[in-house]
Order: sequence, then structure tokens, then C-alpha cells
Amino acid sequence: MTAPLATAPAAARSTVSEKPSLIGLSREGIGAELERIGVERKQIRMRTAQLWNWMYARGVTDFADMLNVSKDMRSTLESAFTLKRPEIVAEQVSEDGTRKWLMRFPARGAGRPVEIETVYIPEIGRGTLCVSSQVGCTLTCSFCHTGTQKLVRNLTAEEIVGQILVARDRLGDFPDATTPVGAAVPSEGRLVSNIVMMGMGEPLYNFDNVKEALLIASDGEGLSLSKRRITLSTSGVVPMIPRAGEEIGSMLAISLHAVRDDLRDLLVPLNKKYPIKELLDACRNYPGLSNARRITFEYVMLKDVNDSPADARELVRLLKGIPAKINLIPFNPWPGVNYQCSDWETIETFSDIVNRAGYASPIRTPRGRDILAACGQLKSESERMRARERLALEAMMAGDADE
Ligand code: SF4
Repeated sequence: MTAPLATAPAAARSTVSEKPSLIGLSREGIGAELERIGVERKQIRMRTAQLWNWMYARGVTDFADMLNVSKDMRSTLESAFTLKRPEIVAEQVSEDGTRKWLMRFPARGAGRPVEIETVYIPEIGRGTLCVSSQVGCTLTCSFCHTGTQKLVRNLTAEEIVGQILVARDRLGDFPDATTPVGAAVPSEGRLVSNIVMMGMGEPLYNFDNVKEALLIASDGEGLSLSKRRITLSTSGVVPMIPRAGEEIGSMLAISLHAVRDDLRDLLVPLNKKYPIKELLDACRNYPGLSNARRITFEYVMLKDVNDSPADARELVRLLKGIPAKINLIPFNPWPGVNYQCSDWETIETFSDIVNRAGYASPIRTPRGRDILAACGQLKSESERMRARERLALEAMMAGDADE
């Protein structure tokens, strides 16, 4: 059953809080903020460690709850900073347990408040959070719903980390108040165990903020997500791939979707700039690549477009020498799109060919179809609803004027 748990009225114009947030800052960044408000230099390391534990290991949102911090310091922090979460505009729970949040972030500069989606997918033994990096996207992949939404802006590190914090809040995935103050929180057995940067946007076009956020997510004294459980997915921004490996060190996923340049030019237009050969060369040289740290290639199955046995054989040939896993994704159609999902038999035949060549080729089970879980769909729905509300309001006002 689809259960919308929380909805908020259409956007009141929210703006960035007067007080700066400490969320999304590195330890050095927090230290600099503490120094700015006059915390003694010799205390800064200790205070930063306390804050880090409360913010990220415990998920506390109120300085008043930081019990090992003196009362005076708590009120100083309270008057200078905020730990506010993003606003949840809508939360939906699919019959298969998939959860989807539409979150709103305040206006920045001259901009407007923006909305993005975050999806949580529970599986046996793990739970994956699909995190957005941009509002909309500059790339126009023809099968992707987000590709129909213009880029509005990059998300900040605070907004990227905020999505993880909201998910842990809503899932009850932070330790409760009985956990002793300052105690380490085990990273095993958490509901959010994996992160994929595979929501709205191209993460490598927002490199600095994504890097900052993922370094916070993987910090062992905070959110504690192992880098092996964080996957950065790119449509193929070749020049940034080595930096992602060296500076972030997460797992890498490539949205491949086609094995010929003429077809990939249509499906993933960025291919015109960075064709398949260049992309795969960058993958071969990805820092830390090994059989234990394979690259995932995402391949959406589009009926009669990219799903023939010849395509599967070409895929095997192209990936030769790259420790890889191929995720076959049954296409999840959205209103107005011209593609269809491949038949199940076709997908299985494709998978068998790839599998016989020695590559794992799981077929991703479609999740959350009842809540439009393909990325970008909830945001569009919300925008359509707002347009309907606006029209209704205009009609009402016109009626008033007639009377
Ligand atoms: S698939 Fe990714 S890169 Fe392509 S349009 Fe969609 S969000 Fe952007």
C-alpha cells in the first residue's frame, strides 16, 4: 500500500536560516567556526570531537541535548549555529518498504527554495540510500526523468549530508538516549548501510561538495559508512574520474547503457564529449581497482534499443580486463517517455551471456513502482500538484472578481 506519511503545504518562501549550520563542515571547518565565536584555541579539538559525535554518531539536532558539553557552551553554540534538518515536503512508503522523501532546501542568494528526492531501498541484510547531488541536471539522458528537469543549482555539502541525516532520523537509525554519552556507535547492523550517489544530478559536476559530504559520511567516528559501501555513479565525466578515486576513494558506478557510440550519443548525450573508449580507459585506470573493488556498470534495459544478444556480447568484449559487475535495470517508464522495458526473457538472455563470460550480472528488481520511485518523478508530481493548486486558486479569485 502506498502510504503518504507526511505532506506539507505548498512552498512558503523559506530562506536560509540566519544562523550558519555546522552540518556539512569538515572538522577543520567546525574548528574555524568555533574559533570565530571565541572558543578558546586549546578547547577547539575537544569541542569539535564532541560536536562531531553528537551530530553524526548520535544524530542530535538540539545543542541542549549535548550532555557532556557545559551548559554555558551549549547556549553559546545554540545562539551561534543551527543543526536544522531539511524540510520534508512528502514522505511515501511503498508496499515493498521502499521509502521516498521529497525534501525542500531554503533559497540561497537570489534563488528560490528547491526540492530534491531521496530514496531508501531496504533489502535483506542491507539498506541503500539513493542520494541526490544536484537540483535537476544539465545532462539530458533520454531515458531519465530527471534529465527533463533543468539544472537549478548544485546541492551544498550540508544539503547532501542532510539527506542521510533525514533518512536515519525517519528510520530510527540513530542510537537512542540510553546509549552512554560519548560511546562509539557500531556501524554494523544499521538500516542505512549503503549509499549510492545515484539520485538527481551528475555528482562529478558538483565535485567539491560531493567530496566533502562523502568524506563526512565515511568518517569512522560519525556516520561511519565504509567507503566500500559508498558508490559514486557518473554518466561518464572522464576528466574527474581519477580525482574521484584519489580524493574520495568510494566505489565507482558508470551509467553505460549502450555499447556503441552512435546509440550512447542518443541515450547519454555526454558520450559525444567523452566517448565509450575514453570512458573505459578511465575505468581501467581507476585508483584502487581490483577484483575486490570492482566497477559497477549500470545498463538500463530498453526494448529493441540496446537489449540484443549482440549487444550483450559487445559489452563483454568492451569490458575485457576491467574488474566489473553489470547491473541490468529493467526500465521503469514514466509518463510521456518513448521507451519501453525489455521483455523479461530478453533480459534473462542478456544476463546469461554476460554471466557466462564471468561477470556478475544481477537483474535489479524494480522497487517502489507504486510510489513512482524512478528518480525525478515525485518532484514532478509535486510541481504538477502545485500548478493545479495555483490554477484552482486563480479560478477561485476570478470567481470572486465576477461576483
Ligand atoms: S541519468 Fe543522471 S546524468 Fe543522466 S539526466 Fe538523469 S540524473 Fe542526469
